Amino acid sequence: MREANRIVSLILDELGTNVKPGVPTILFEEICRARCEEHGVRPAFLGYQGFPFALCCSVNEEIVHGFPSKDRILKEGDIVSFDMGVVYEGFYGDSARTFAVGAVTREAERLMDVTRESLTIGIEQAVPGNNLYDISAAIQSYVEGAGFGIVRRFVGHGIGSHLHEKPEIPNFVPKGMAGIPLKAGMVLAIEPMVTVGTHEVEVLEDNWTAVTKDRKLSAHFEHTVAVTSDGPMILSLSE
Ligand code: MG
Ligand code: MG
Repeated sequence: MREANRIVSLILDELGTNVKPGVPTILFEEICRARCEEHGVRPAFLGYQGFPFALCCSVNEEIVHGFPSKDRILKEGDIVSFDMGVVYEGFYGDSARTFAVGAVTREAERLMDVTRESLTIGIEQAVPGNNLYDISAAIQSYVEGAGFGIVRRFVGHGIGSHLHEKPEIPNFVPKGMAGIPLKAGMVLAIEPMVTVGTHEVEVLEDNWTAVTKDRKLSAHFEHTVAVTSDGPMILSLSE
C-alpha cells in the first residue's frame, strides 16, 4: 500500500505541475494512464462500477467523479480537483488534491486551505484508542467553524485489498450512531469534500459528476493513512 500510494502521489504531483489556463482536462487522464502503465500498476477507478476514466477530474462546482474531457478547457480562476487510485500487487492507494488554475479568488484560496487543513486535523485523530468519529468530528467542526459546508453524500473509507472497505468514514458525525474504536493496522482513506455554500449535492445526467446544488465551489483533499502505534502514517504524502 505504501508503494501504491507513492505512485499515486507522484502522479498527482505531475498532474499539479500541468495545471494552467488553456489546458483541456483530458490531458490529465492521458498523463495518469501513461504513468500507470510505466509503473506497471492498474488505475483503480477505470471500470470501477462502470466509471469510464482512470482519473476523477472535477472543476469548480463539481465535487467528485467529474469526467476528464477534451472539450473542458481550464481557465484562469478555476479550481480543479483530481482524485485517483491505483492497484499495486493487489493493494490500493487513493488520494485527491485540488489545484488553483492561475490566480483564483480569495474565497477559492480559502476554500482550498480550509479543506487541506481539515484533512490534516482529521488525520491527527487517526490514532489507536480513538473513536472513528473523532476524525469525523474534528473535520466537521473545523470546516463549519470556518463557515464552509461539509459534504455528507460522499464519505471516506477503509482501504486495502479493495478500493472501498469498511468502515465508512463520514466527514461529519452521524446522529445516533456509535463509531468504532481505531486500532493499529487499520488503513483509512480520509477525504473531506468542502463547499463554499450548501453541502447538498446533485448528480448530473452522466450519472457520475457530483456538483453542489447551488453550483458554488467545492474542494477535495484525500490521503490514505495507516493507523499505527506511533501515530498516523500518511502513505500518500507527496515527496
Ligand atoms: Mg479518492
Ligand atoms: Mg477515496
